[in-house]
Amino acid sequence: MNGKTVMACLDAAHASLKEHADEIASLDQAIGDGDHIINLLRGMDALAAMRAQIEADAFAPALKLAATKVLSTVGGSSGPLFFSMLTGMAKASADDADSAGVAAFARAFAAGVEAVGQRGKTGVGSKTMMDVLIPVAERFTAMAEAGASRQDVLDALPRIAEEHMLATRDMLATKGRASFLGERSRGHIDPGARSSQLMIEAVCAYIARDEA
Ligand code: ADP
Ligand code: MG
Repeated sequence: MNGKTVMACLDAAHASLKEHADEIASLDQAIGDGDHIINLLRGMDALAAMRAQIEADAFAPALKLAATKVLSTVGGSSGPLFFSMLTGMAKASADDADSAGVAAFARAFAAGVEAVGQRGKTGVGSKTMMDVLIPVAERFTAMAEAGASRQDVLDALPRIAEEHMLATRDMLATKGRASFLGERSRGHIDPGARSSQLMIEAVCAYIARDEA
């Protein structure tokens, strides 16, 4: 794992977000202000524009570089949250930066999710991206501790992400803009849960396909 891997994962996430842009826009129009996908794609375009720099770095510095760009371009609630995700991962992986076995990557991912929780001051149950990120981090950690193979992890995580993304539909939003709707927030999937799930799915598919 190095800057090239980081960029390839960002590319995979970017492609999936673009493909699902209309759907994510409708989700945020239903329970937010409609800008979630615009915010994310602005950031992804900016990251693609600094490809050479990201690719030239080692794993942790590449994540930090990407995080700084995300903070200055994404905006909304999700910009600072994704910044925290990437810096949290970078900090946790600084020591084992390029070694990146399943266990090291699980630790980094869990640290990223923990940082998002600290920044957004929420856990599961408030109908946000955390409802996807936390169960995925927990399963990832449990599988890594049990010595699961890379392939098993790459099969399991997208399934967990999808299941928990779908479960946000019936939840009551108690954080972020959607919470202003109260009971009317029910019946719609959370846009941040959907975008996080899509990115997790795309990155797992990329690693399974091209990093095998
Ligand atoms: P904004 O709501 O400011 O317009 P975005 O549209 O970019 O920001 O992002 C909305 C998404 O951010 C929501 O769908 C939700 O998943 C996520 N979100 C909002 N507040 C929080 C929070 N405190 N913790 C975690 N995620 C949050
Ligand atoms: Mg929004």
